Amino acid sequence: MSVADLVKTFTFYEILVGMKATITVFIQRIILRNRKAITLQYPHEKRDLPGSYRGMIALLKYDDGVEKCVGCDLCEAACPSRVITVISAEVEGEPAKRYAKEYYMDMTRCLFCGLCVDACPVDALAMTKEYEWARYNKRDLRLDKPQLLALGDRNFPVREKKLEFQHPNVAYFNIGHKNLPHKAS
Ligand code: SF4
Ligand code: SF4
Repeated sequence: MSVADLVKTFTFYEILVGMKATITVFIQRIILRNRKAITLQYPHEKRDLPGSYRGMIALLKYDDGVEKCVGCDLCEAACPSRVITVISAEVEGEPAKRYAKEYYMDMTRCLFCGLCVDACPVDALAMTKEYEWARYNKRDLRLDKPQLLALGDRNFPVREKKLEFQHPNVAYFNIGHKNLPHKAS
């Protein structure tokens, strides 16, 4: 055995190499105190999530409180996991308009892929940053329309104007819209 090997054996060289990162952080955090901890004391401390974070899905409303969803079923068709069930109906007195009479999402199956959000033609769906949804009973994760609308109200308090007010010139030609604002010249 060479001298170098003897020194390595008696100084536990391999163990020191393996623990290099641990020892470095120990010295910086505990002895020198010049390194900030990266551990968060969850649930008291929470990480800042990126804007693109995909959390629980919410149904949205317009600024006048009307639900955005027009019950078109496109989200249901786009979902690869069959999470969504939409039961749509005609708006009373307005046969050209439909709405989601019932809307269910079984979040135990959701992949958070966002395809339903992309498929929606009226931006009625959005992904929130909510993630603390652990439940003892998985049936509690089958959310109905009021629960999904409540998620939207909580996470998106600033609501959009109705489409006919966002694009009055386009909406002018749509007989489905009533009480239109004046057409801009
Ligand atoms: S995020 Fe994906 S898996 Fe979840 S409901 Fe939407 S389409 Fe379905
Ligand atoms: S959420 Fe959007 S895509 Fe789904 S039924 Fe309602 S309007 Fe259609």
